[in-house]
Amino acid sequence: MTRSVRRSSSIAILGCGVLLMGAVANEPEGLGPIRGFSNARSGDEHALEEKFRAIPDPAHAESNLRHLTSEPHLAGTEASKRVAEWLRGQYQSYGFDAQIVSYSVWMAQPKEVSLELTSPQKQALATPEAGIPEDKDTFDKRAVMAFNAYVPSADVTAPVVYVNYGTQEDYRVLQSLGISVEGKIALARYGRCYRGIKTKLAEEHKAVGVVIYSDPEDDGYDAGDMFPRGPWRPMSGIQRGSVEYTQIYPGDPLTPGVAATPDAKRITPAEATNLSHIPTLPINPQDGAAILSKLDGPHVPRSWQGGLPFTYHVGAGAAVAHIRLVMDYQQRPIYDVIAKLHGTSDDEWVVLGNHHDAWVFGAVDPSSGTATMLEAARGLGDLVRSGWKPRRTIVMCEWDGEEEGLIGSTEWVEQNRAELQSKAVVYLNTDVGVAGPNLSASAVPSLKEFVRDATRSVPNPQSGETVYETWREHDARAEVEELGSARPTGQAEVSGEAPISALGAGSDFCPFLDFAGIPSADVGFVGDYGVYHSLYDDFYWMKKFGDPEFKYHAALAKVLGTMVLRLDEADVLPFDYGNYAGEISRAVQALQKRAGEQGINSSEVKPVVDAAGQLSESAAKLAHALQSGGGLAIDPVSQAKLNRDLASVDQALLAPEGLRGRTWYKHTIYAPGSYAGYSAEVLPGPSEALDRKDAAAFEVESKALAAALRRAAARLDEVTKLSGK
Ligand SMILES: [Zn+2]
Repeated sequence: MTRSVRRSSSIAILGCGVLLMGAVANEPEGLGPIRGFSNARSGDEHALEEKFRAIPDPAHAESNLRHLTSEPHLAGTEASKRVAEWLRGQYQSYGFDAQIVSYSVWMAQPKEVSLELTSPQKQALATPEAGIPEDKDTFDKRAVMAFNAYVPSADVTAPVVYVNYGTQEDYRVLQSLGISVEGKIALARYGRCYRGIKTKLAEEHKAVGVVIYSDPEDDGYDAGDMFPRGPWRPMSGIQRGSVEYTQIYPGDPLTPGVAATPDAKRITPAEATNLSHIPTLPINPQDGAAILSKLDGPHVPRSWQGGLPFTYHVGAGAAVAHIRLVMDYQQRPIYDVIAKLHGTSDDEWVVLGNHHDAWVFGAVDPSSGTATMLEAARGLGDLVRSGWKPRRTIVMCEWDGEEEGLIGSTEWVEQNRAELQSKAVVYLNTDVGVAGPNLSASAVPSLKEFVRDATRSVPNPQSGETVYETWREHDARAEVEELGSARPTGQAEVSGEAPISALGAGSDFCPFLDFAGIPSADVGFVGDYGVYHSLYDDFYWMKKFGDPEFKYHAALAKVLGTMVLRLDEADVLPFDYGNYAGEISRAVQALQKRAGEQGINSSEVKPVVDAAGQLSESAAKLAHALQSGGGLAIDPVSQAKLNRDLASVDQALLAPEGLRGRTWYKHTIYAPGSYAGYSAEVLPGPSEALDRKDAAAFEVESKALAAALRRAAARLDEVTKLSGK
């Protein structure tokens, strides 16, 4: 779905000063011990990884991408099924045991999406994207008209109000201007938050419809040259996308919490709480300008002015718009591909995934990730052919229906939760795999150092440095720029390490982490990418701007493969709970401070503070045990048990009853923000209770959080005991 170029630095990356056994932060790679391996086995692992990293190559990645982008392949269509079948065949040819798993999902395709200004003059809008002569794919008649997924059919006419990005803060500003969207159509620009939050907030403020346009300031000509001259959104480019309220629950709206199998018990659409009741549609910058330029009413606040060449007004007044949507909802099939490379032990799984469905051609989103995963799979298959046998089973998943609301992954995780919780040691996601040359990663804190370690072993394709070094230097520059602008001093700390953000919403790691408690990470290369979810995200764009020589595709395949091989072969799984406990402690301190500011009695926060302290102590003891070789020399049965416990700490952090008001979300440390867009809400239960100024909910959520932290501490103590140190 999306990957933000800039990431929040509000959770600093400073470790707790305890390095796990084998961590070799500043040693040149290829020489030192690897986290989770004995010194003796580290050498073999280095040799295996070297052998693997010689295999992924740009030409294969390019040919994969060419195939994956050869026709538009929206979820629920025959074209998406063809992609799934091709992927199954590719994985089989690499020696994987690959299958298609299908679900039946309540999903729409658009029959009519129309928008017109009825006043001050009549003008038809919702202009389709224009073909570009040098890029023949852009004339493909099979491209779906631009629409937002999970909107109702509707026919409304109302005056228009400009709501900037349509965030909570923007509505506060509107209120201060004395403007209401009640009974009006809200015109929002894309950016800052998930589009489903724009619709949710507009609905809560009693708007009758939403139009979302892309402003040139955000990903168009203000950012740089427009496609086809440059990589940024042309005036004709439209961002499609879902407005399902995935922040309440993702997946098939009619089967919350259970898999959308043909015989599943289904609720009715009216009962589904993750659907909007008002129409939303996306439009391009030129249509956005047509409406905005007709608005009267007060001038917008300075920061609301975008990049169009006139002064913006808020409305509402003379400009009246008419939205008409006819959506064809049906039970539609989706096709996940699940490919396994069986290990010596089928009881432990290293799981990787990306989606394969696309709004149109989807060269960057998602096919660059898929083309890359295929290259990693080919490399692993070659290792097997040359006599290697994986220790754990490697499971590579290609999801369908991600764009509509993380459907393929959610349904599969809901169906296989018990098995995943007993077998999966990690879930690695790569969605927007390659949009440019800058690495970007999100992960649970226990995997951050592991992700950095893997990138220290892969050369950057365009310099003599490693991927890690370029990543760290680039982000240090970006961070200094950010610090130099508006950020209050002291909020962000430049740690000297490449920053890894928390996992929010927006891609298929969500069900794994938030519903099943599988430790997750997401990696990819980002860059100047203005054609997100448009017709123009195609092979031509990638070849001209994103990765013309496909070197970053090959580099990402090497990063992914290195991570897989380390997780697969490790004697002791390379989780760093010292870092996790440290990040939780800092978040708890911030929570305590906020609670105090709201006059909440400190005795209510104390159990959380105590439990976080207990977790830190347990993590420090475990780090000490592992640092002195714990777990390496124990019998295989105890070692398997130790690894199981190590991999299930996030499960201990799940609250069985889930978060209030959105019980599908079980993780007590991370959830997508209810109103905060793609970014993660940390300690979501008590934190959002404070946002709502709901002291009773704060008490309940704090108890659940404290209990989860104590369970996690007990799990770490168990590992320490098993480690034999
Ligand atoms: Zn995607």
